[in-house]
Amino acid sequence: MLARDQSVRTRYAPSPTGPQHIGGIRSALFGWLFARRHAGQFILRIEDTDQKRSVRGSVEQIVDSFDWLGLDIDEGPHMGGDFGPYVQSQRLDLYQRWANWLVDQGHAYRCFATPQELAEMRKAGRGYDRRYRDFPADRSAEQATQGLAHVIRFKMPLAGTTRGTDLIRGEVAFDNAQLQDAVLLKSDGFPTYHLAHIVDDHAMRISHITRAVEWLPSFPLHLQIWDAFGWEKPQFAHLPVLLNPNGKGKLSKRKQQFADSQGKSVPVLVHEFQSAGYLPEAVVNFLTNIGWNFGDDQEVFKREEAISRFDLQDVNPANSAYPIAKLDWLNSQWIQRSDADELARRLKPVLEAAGCEVNVALLQKVVPLLQVRLKSLNDVVRMAGFFFADWNDFSPPPADILIQRKQDEASTTAILRGALPLLEALEDFSPTAQQAAMTTYAASIGQKNGAVFGSLRAAVSGQKVSPPTFETMGIFGKAESLRRVKLAVAALEDARS
Ligand code: GLU
Repeated sequence: MLARDQSVRTRYAPSPTGPQHIGGIRSALFGWLFARRHAGQFILRIEDTDQKRSVRGSVEQIVDSFDWLGLDIDEGPHMGGDFGPYVQSQRLDLYQRWANWLVDQGHAYRCFATPQELAEMRKAGRGYDRRYRDFPADRSAEQATQGLAHVIRFKMPLAGTTRGTDLIRGEVAFDNAQLQDAVLLKSDGFPTYHLAHIVDDHAMRISHITRAVEWLPSFPLHLQIWDAFGWEKPQFAHLPVLLNPNGKGKLSKRKQQFADSQGKSVPVLVHEFQSAGYLPEAVVNFLTNIGWNFGDDQEVFKREEAISRFDLQDVNPANSAYPIAKLDWLNSQWIQRSDADELARRLKPVLEAAGCEVNVALLQKVVPLLQVRLKSLNDVVRMAGFFFADWNDFSPPPADILIQRKQDEASTTAILRGALPLLEALEDFSPTAQQAAMTTYAASIGQKNGAVFGSLRAAVSGQKVSPPTFETMGIFGKAESLRRVKLAVAALEDARS
């Protein structure tokens, strides 16, 4: 394992093609954890050399996603750093210079094949036939000076084996004959990924390249390019990718929502997790746990705990199906472990977005009732929104909500009416005291607890589902609870008359 004092620098190098996808974050996260483990740096670099695919505003969305997840960045386009610019389209000179250097050194060559010629080679089912590989250097230079359109291609060895080490997969070997003379610089002067990332990873002193396994087939090409430059190579880790929940195919980037096996739509963009009410801690825990284990059978862990144990060598090389069901469970665990004030702070905007006016003192009283019940922050609206509606405007729910199973209007009216004086008489209106009184009451009238508790719950909350009845009534207080029960009784009587 790497010594801690070595200067570790990892990077996330997305193409700015729109909202941040969770698959990219998962790759970034492993690089981030590794950098943090070694007290190194984590860099954001924008790879926008495919200008057609670049989408405006992507960088802001990427940075916002990292902010929300609490993954701090040490250098990047939004904050600068010693190795900028951190956007590839602002570094074109550098790539052009190095591409020409490779040509001068005999490691690369200009290729003047026309689009028609290339189309013919493709049609014939062959790859590029290297027709300019041995083109005389003086003629090549002359044609370039005349402005003849060309690309620069790498001279891949025609035979032999390229060997490399992948931190996750161990030693890997590739047959050179299988590889093409890849384009390094396009005719418009833009580099390809193959050239640009190597020039940048070298210039930015990246120590570990952590990237998706899709790049493994190009690994031998990259190793050859590093050698052609004569630069000291970083270490490499090709990370497993997330598959769709059914295990088939890579977790789609373009299709932003799709149904899992239960027909539920599944979030894949970072902002979708945010709007679905997931805590960033839960999302980070969830992603860290796919393809890496904290150990000790511990599934819920803080990022600091993960940092203290993380090593790229422990990442499982197999791609994993996106275990989305796990996320709901983790989210509820994180909600339960949240500090109550912090949870209140997070629930407030959710309630406000649903049109509730939030009294913070009231919310702080409600939070302990919710903490063990919420699966998502958004559940607060359904479960506890009623606390935050104007109490003066409360009107009792319809009879079908008030009437419990096996009851009718008459019995429900009687149950509620009979409960009133008993609750009224309670000096101690704590949930325990209420529950004791109502349990005795139910027995005395030959009813099940559920019939009594359920009618009271519906009368006071106005809904079938709420936090526990007596806790809810405790928060409303005796006067407001009784007022609501009386309103329900009156409504039921009105309905009968
Ligand atoms: N821009 C590349 C991608 O998005 C970066 C791969 C890498 O990390 O080197 O796939």
